[in-house]
Amino acid sequence: MTSLNHSEAQKKTVAIIGGGPAGLMAAEVLAAGGIQVEVYDAMPSVGRKFLLAGKGGMNLTHSEPYDAFLSRYGSRKPDIAPLLDQFTPDALREWVHALGIDTFVGSSGRVFPTDMKAAPLLRAWLHRLRQAGVQFHMRHRWLGWNEAGALVFETPQGAHTASADAVVLALGGGSWARLGSDAKWVPLLAQRDVPIAPLQAANCGFDVGWSEYFRGRFAGDHLKSVAITIDDNAGDQHGFRKQGEFVVTAHGVEGSLIYALSAGLRDRISAEGSAVIHIDLLPDWPLQRVIDEVSRPRGARSWSSHLQSRLGLKGVKTGLLRELVAPADFIDPLSLANAIKALPLTLLAPRPIDEAISSAGGVTFEGLDQQLMLQAIPGVFCAGEMLDWEAPTGGYLLSACLASGRAAGNGALSWLHRVAVA
Ligand SMILES: Cc1cc2nc3c(=O)[nH]c(=O)nc-3n(C[C@H](O)[C@H](O)[C@H](O)COP(=O)(O)OP(=O)(O)OC[C@H]3O[C@@H](n4cnc5c(N)ncnc54)[C@H](O)[C@@H]3O)c2cc1C
Repeated sequence: MTSLNHSEAQKKTVAIIGGGPAGLMAAEVLAAGGIQVEVYDAMPSVGRKFLLAGKGGMNLTHSEPYDAFLSRYGSRKPDIAPLLDQFTPDALREWVHALGIDTFVGSSGRVFPTDMKAAPLLRAWLHRLRQAGVQFHMRHRWLGWNEAGALVFETPQGAHTASADAVVLALGGGSWARLGSDAKWVPLLAQRDVPIAPLQAANCGFDVGWSEYFRGRFAGDHLKSVAITIDDNAGDQHGFRKQGEFVVTAHGVEGSLIYALSAGLRDRISAEGSAVIHIDLLPDWPLQRVIDEVSRPRGARSWSSHLQSRLGLKGVKTGLLRELVAPADFIDPLSLANAIKALPLTLLAPRPIDEAISSAGGVTFEGLDQQLMLQAIPGVFCAGEMLDWEAPTGGYLLSACLASGRAAGNGALSWLHRVAVA
């Protein structure tokens, strides 16, 4: 890490705008480098989305081999890998441990704080930042720059301007606007010629045209132990298959298995107007066994009780078959067995970005230098979800947010050093 000598550092101030995990990590690096750090955030308190992430069990990172970990960033791997190289999943865990929080690896390989919560971690982190001299300015909504180049904020007391020797923007993506990340920064940067890929929902649910009956009866039910196959563009159903669980909602489907596939599904809907997934309701059963069981005489039993007694299918799984299988196919054992193993479901549209776990799109890496400084605005750095990358859930989001915050902080530090010695 670059550090400024005393006379270089004492005059330098860096404004961090956005107090999510990316901004706080940049603040930590800069404060450790001897910089006066001022954190501004529009909300009454920092880290609101981070705290929400802790509600369902805070997933900090993943323990899988590093190459596999990096592959989760898809086409943005070449941009994200250099950031993660400087703050690997192991380094992240050590950093959490140094805050006095233990971690454990779940059966899925995901890494969690021992108590699964975000609040103790955030509390310890903020305490350490304050002790390092970081100043926090809440209810300061950044509105851009004035003609003199000063930062302009809207506050409950009226407009406020501030100057800084460098700025780190860590304003978040476009989901869950009520927690602060409302993407209102997009036009502010676009008008300064910063290239920005349109924000889109990532790790999101999808709309399905459920019947009133199905929606009323099954919304909220979980489909456990299923597999989804997405055909490739040539219509080959063996294109991509993943096992897990998802939830039926009033609008369609959501949940971890859907999120894991959501980037490809979103892009296919955008290109083709809809996307078809094939659901395997009995992923551990070979097709022939399903055919054999379905074909057994059912006597006076209804199809529902036949499916339940022979295959253990019931509740939402049977409901889904009733919803999606044509009546003629339902009474033909071969067609029904095929439907149980590959039930086609058409997804019509991604759910709105505000509902998504995260967003894709943002400031493109082509608009940044290697230290995450904007080419268009020297001295201004960007970090976190506002950058143009996406990843599935599983700790990959926070890992890249923290790593990019660290890189932006280090970038600002070495830029101030270069300016000071120039
Ligand atoms: C329900 C849910 C669960 C999640 N669970 C996990 C998980 O388990 N693991 C994981 O890795 N990720 C998880 N995530 C994703 C993760 O929380 C985010 O990717 C991460 O918080 C993004 O960090 P960030 O610092 O880039 O932005 P944010 O955390 O969104 O912070 C941005 C900050 O900028 C501020 N801001 C925005 N605009 C302005 C402005 N104009 N002026 C001043 N301040 C502004 C906001 O108020 C906010 O405080 C979850 C997300 C959600 C919604």
